Amino acid sequence: MAFWGDYHTHTTYSRKGDKLHAKGSVLQNAQTAARRGLKELAITDHGFTHVYGVEGADAFARLKADCAEAEKLTGVKIYAGLENNLDPRCGKSADVTPFIACPQDILSELQIVQGGYHAFIGAPTLAKNVRFWSRNVIFKFLPKRKIKEYNTQAYKRMIDEYPIDFIGHLNRGIIADAVEVAKYAHERGVYIELNGRHKSLTDAEIKQMAACGVEFICNSDAHNADDVGKMTLGEKYIKDCGVPYELIANWERLPDFRSANFKAARAEKNKADGGAGATEDSHVND
Ligand SMILES: [Zn+2]
Ligand SMILES: [Zn+2]
Repeated sequence: MAFWGDYHTHTTYSRKGDKLHAKGSVLQNAQTAARRGLKELAITDHGFTHVYGVEGADAFARLKADCAEAEKLTGVKIYAGLENNLDPRCGKSADVTPFIACPQDILSELQIVQGGYHAFIGAPTLAKNVRFWSRNVIFKFLPKRKIKEYNTQAYKRMIDEYPIDFIGHLNRGIIADAVEVAKYAHERGVYIELNGRHKSLTDAEIKQMAACGVEFICNSDAHNADDVGKMTLGEKYIKDCGVPYELIANWERLPDFRSANFKAARAEKNKADGGAGATEDSHVND
């Protein structure tokens, strides 16, 4: 009994100039995945506006090429992605439209779409930066309950407006109603991550989420190659909270991510494999 894929890992593309934030190359991550018997792997380096984010469109193109190359060398299916950052404070105030800090042309290039949140992410345009910072200041004077409601709406809108496949470390560095977000995600086929390195959800929240039937995905969030496939904290959550393994989308099965980006990438890869499993995804462009 085993995990079949790890869909949140970082490589040396998460960096700031010479300063590396993660240590493994795409190939090294893939080699560890192969050694640990994983069938699939995703590279989801930090989004462009993260301080150690992928350094622009050219770097992402190289990341993607490296994924294709590593897939050939190791036989592990590899999806190129980014850890996209939700910024609830940059939206229009009336309807809490968030954005994920990812240019539209890159968004369409992602083979798997992770939505998450990191504190201190800047906004991509001057206008959005102004809104970002003004909201940031205003937020300090709002009661906690208001912020929670606002962020909960932001997560929901993110699911509505972007082809999010899973939400990474929900509630890390941000306050939202995790159970409400999970219910919303469940109805729309979005997985909730149980992150291998960060515990951002309480046991009570996880139990309530499981009770509502949402499916989880365990990922390592590896920042060095040796950690790929290590679901450490996620496995602890499962045991501590009695989460049934049937709710873990990458346990003894491959997840069926919702985005057309992912479905197209998997179909393409299956076709390249010579048809094995190609029919399984033949409906993807319906
Ligand atoms: Zn990181
Ligand atoms: Zn990460």
